[in-house]
Amino acid sequence: QFESVGFIGLGNMGSRMANNLIKAGYKVVVHDVNCNVIKMFTDKGVPAKQTPFEVAEASDVVITMLPSSSHVLDVYTGPNGLLDGESRLRPHLFIDSSTIDPETSRKVSAAVSNFLLKEKKGFWEKPVMLDAPVSGGVLAAEAGTLTFMVGGSEDACLAAKPLFLSMGKNTIYCGGAGTGSAAKICNNLAMAVSMLGVSEALALGQSLGIEADTLTKVFNSSSARCWSSDSYNPVPGVMEGVPASMDYAGGFASKLMAKDLSLVAASAKAVGLKCPLTSQALEIYTKLCKDGHEMKDFSCAFRHYYFGKDE
Ligand code: NAD
Repeated sequence: QFESVGFIGLGNMGSRMANNLIKAGYKVVVHDVNCNVIKMFTDKGVPAKQTPFEVAEASDVVITMLPSSSHVLDVYTGPNGLLDGESRLRPHLFIDSSTIDPETSRKVSAAVSNFLLKEKKGFWEKPVMLDAPVSGGVLAAEAGTLTFMVGGSEDACLAAKPLFLSMGKNTIYCGGAGTGSAAKICNNLAMAVSMLGVSEALALGQSLGIEADTLTKVFNSSSARCWSSDSYNPVPGVMEGVPASMDYAGGFASKLMAKDLSLVAASAKAVGLKCPLTSQALEIYTKLCKDGHEMKDFSCAFRHYYFGKDE
């Protein structure tokens, strides 16, 4: 159904996702504010556009993968943005895969649905927006094994499935507009707290004389087993191939975790839910960033927060 795909935001994640769409045979056009990343695509013959508006004019579907809510608002509703003008021939579908707050996702989705299409195509009387953030990180973006959590129209989610499956291996429909973004920040809250819980327990264990790999074996055969203990262990040397065993390089930066926890805190405040663990985790990741570890993987909390070690 969709042949031409506009891709905006070619950073760590977006460049890899766009490459997988190209490999899958889609006609891709790209845009980014960073000329260096654009050159990586134009050098291999992929056309680039100067503005989001020009991307919209050239695409059946537009995918955005931007740092934060303000960038998404700018690209959609700013001057020369995706929604400039009053009606358009296309695109029929907008997919935002950035991690942003659910409120902004709903706002952008409403702005998209205020647009008219000049020609009806299938069930697309109006353009439709899906919030479809991802879990999996840079390696999964490269391998095309991301998980998409999708909010918005269920029909549009079904129609977009081939696109999602060109970039990922799982698509989970979460409900109406904003629920994909809600699922993503809830996932990252649970991940942050479980990482800190495992780190704190392993730090205490070491201080009480139990080797981290022995305590990890206990956890992984007992009720403390979780992703942070059995797949992404935070103690250097306990597991191969994880950031902890590579000086906490690569992986998911502490600054991104701090950003996501700020989104959680704002969303919890907006609905009046007390989230004491969110506040505590946000404080820890904010301190890690202030201490200069913002680019280290978020599992570095084990070394830098609990033992206060410098790099
Ligand atoms: P990044 O900073 O590497 O890339 C963002 C890109 O957007 C950059 O190339 C930047 O130049 C471009 N950009 C910024 N403003 C723009 C604008 N106004 N117009 C056009 N382009 C613009 O970020 P990333 O690591 O690729 O992450 C993107 C999103 O995915 C974030 O919301 C992040 O939280 C989320 N995410 C990241 C990971 C990860 O492991 N890196 C994992 C899951 C989700």
